[in-house]
Amino acid sequence: MRVLVAGGAGFIGSHLCERLLLEGHQVTCIDNLCTGDLNNIEGIKRNSLFRFILQDVALPISLEVDVVAHLASPASPIDYARLPVETMLANSLGTYQLLEVARKNGARFLMASTSEIYGDPLEAPQQESYFGNVNPNGPRSCYDESKRFAEAITSTYRRMYELESVIIRIFNTFGPRMRREDGRVVPNFIQQALAGESLTVYGDGSQTRSFCYVDDLVEGIWRALIREEAVGQVINLGNDAEMTILELADEIKKITGSESEIAFQPLPEDDPRRRRPDLSKANSLLSWQPKVSLQDGLKRVVEWFMSEPGN
Ligand code: UDP
Repeated sequence: MRVLVAGGAGFIGSHLCERLLLEGHQVTCIDNLCTGDLNNIEGIKRNSLFRFILQDVALPISLEVDVVAHLASPASPIDYARLPVETMLANSLGTYQLLEVARKNGARFLMASTSEIYGDPLEAPQQESYFGNVNPNGPRSCYDESKRFAEAITSTYRRMYELESVIIRIFNTFGPRMRREDGRVVPNFIQQALAGESLTVYGDGSQTRSFCYVDDLVEGIWRALIREEAVGQVINLGNDAEMTILELADEIKKITGSESEIAFQPLPEDDPRRRRPDLSKANSLLSWQPKVSLQDGLKRVVEWFMSEPGN
């Protein structure tokens, strides 16, 4: 297959490019590097099946492909707060441009959506049928609402043009290649623990998240791309082992052997209280479930951070 990976130089996108190349597919990666990094594709850039195009997804692009995967968007709360308009355009205009590429080629289209679709959910665990509880004007809305738009236009193209689409909703994911400064909780806590600094817990730390290791997620994305059962579906992908942020802080202290204290800081506005995916659909449609435990995943990321001091 000829696969276009938009956002292929990012954290998840680069892992997906590697996986596709391993399966023997031809990969074109487009990325404007606003949060992506050429270092992420260092290991594959000389592969003859791989091509990199430096471009913003919001601009038109003409390519011959069989599959389009749209993972191009800032995804960490501090990144989209820093790049709110770029985030909205990547998910609105960018999704439109990539849908057009898919429509013209009769290609399959995978939209990387997010658990943020559910906002501060009033239901737990979150099933795909839940419409969510999103503040349309809050500080996270540039991300939440543009991803909701991306889902809406993807579903519209499916209805209008019989486009083969798959929408995946990605829950908190962690792994090597997360940027140290991206502000998400796993890289923050690991860095702080390794440096002997206090771990910054926002609020009282009782809010929950469920953390998925990137290799598990990429396996799910791969299956969503190739399985006929996934076509036309919206599917949660993540790990359903829910924990509080304080429990995560303790786990990271244990793994790093750190004696760091906890420093409580104000909870950001609209920070979701709970997040845990219902994975029954992923399970039945993709025969998929996450395998890597939080402890094993965290150990791998700690090793990676220690081996890449400059990153
Ligand atoms: N968080 C925290 N300390 C940090 C960074 C994040 O307590 O240094 C909290 C944040 O308020 C949220 C959770 O950890 O409740 C996950 O935040 P993250 O930015 O990783 O992703 P989100 O799930 O909010 O998109």
